[in-house]
Amino acid sequence: MSDKAQRARKVLANVGTLLPDLESVYKDLHSHPELSMQENRTAGIAAQRLCTAGYEVTTGVGKTGVVGVLRNGDGPIVMLRADMDALPVREATGLPYASNAIADQNGESVPVMHACGHDMHVTWLIGAATLLAQNRNAWRGTLMPVFQPAEEIAAGAQAMIDDGLFKRFPKPHVILGQHVMVGSSGTIATRSGVITSAGDSLQLRFFGQGAHGSMPQASIDPVVMAAATVLRLQTIVSREIAPTEAAVVTVGSLQAGTKENVIPEEAVIKLNVRTFDEGVRKHVLAAIERIANAEAEASRAPRRPEITPLDRYPLVKNDPEATKRAVEAFRSYFPADRVKDTPPTTASEDFGSFGTEWQVPSVFWFVGGTDPETYAKAEQSGTIADIPTNHNPRFAPVIHPTLQAGVEAMVVAAQAWLAG
Ligand SMILES: [Zn+2]
Ligand SMILES: [Zn+2]
Repeated sequence: MSDKAQRARKVLANVGTLLPDLESVYKDLHSHPELSMQENRTAGIAAQRLCTAGYEVTTGVGKTGVVGVLRNGDGPIVMLRADMDALPVREATGLPYASNAIADQNGESVPVMHACGHDMHVTWLIGAATLLAQNRNAWRGTLMPVFQPAEEIAAGAQAMIDDGLFKRFPKPHVILGQHVMVGSSGTIATRSGVITSAGDSLQLRFFGQGAHGSMPQASIDPVVMAAATVLRLQTIVSREIAPTEAAVVTVGSLQAGTKENVIPEEAVIKLNVRTFDEGVRKHVLAAIERIANAEAEASRAPRRPEITPLDRYPLVKNDPEATKRAVEAFRSYFPADRVKDTPPTTASEDFGSFGTEWQVPSVFWFVGGTDPETYAKAEQSGTIADIPTNHNPRFAPVIHPTLQAGVEAMVVAAQAWLAG
């Protein structure tokens, strides 16, 4: 066993005794989810835990972000990142610790649920940061746990960067992050290169001319304009992108009008694009603009549609050297069947912003959260797609061994960089 693996085992020797405490942290966070940029309670818990463990703690970075720093002698600086926010989803898991939370979203009351598992991420990072601090004789260097707000609206990483993350804190040698996903609980999956897609959300607003529903000749109908656009958008991926490339164009919202006999003045489409390559991304975005303009013109719209970017997620690209190092560390700790390769996924993440903008290698990996037996059965019967995914109201990672696996993965990966 390598020296680094031995030091990881030393830090993790007592992970079992910490689990009951972490389980209660997780259940508490799960029952108290908070929307993006409202993560005050969650941030408070993270900050208090870091403080108790001996970290210098800065709160309010990028509104609700928390940064811990533990200087422990000469050695590399390692940043560990967890995101904290939940989603406007009504929980339907039926779990005893399910959320009943309601929160304000732009003046509207919405149900809130940790439907993406960020409560697990926060708990993992609290666990890893605590164990590494308690066993600081097993490593040297600087550890920097970062609890990030607002991943779900692609704003939190950038908010922390804009608030001086790169100036106020030491520049890390590596940035590590992990996400709970559908997969056999406790398995770790990653890959070198692109691991999650770029995501772009846009709003298209079409302008027509309202009229009585009985007098189409007096109207310029934005409903037809929008409907034709939705259909034509389907041809971007099928007719303009090479079969060896991948892209997704999904129209998730199409709104126009209030009554069956009133032709409205406007129609609004909201759509989401996922791509794995910058060239493909640029092509798809240009095609959307071209099609929207052309359909408006075909309908003799009084003006061009208004195209507004809603949010943007960068590609998350795992640095090849750093990924190799992390995977070797995982393999030296976990049983062989628990460390897997993954293809790139069409999920998106703003984790990539830290490494890209700071020019620091980063590694992101997935931790399976599905009961192993359930997953194995689904795999056999070809029904994996039926397991509720992230963002589904029934998304419910099993606590064991998901919780322990994420704490272990974070510590093992950190120790692959920290000095002995
Ligand atoms: Zn999510
Ligand atoms: Zn997520």
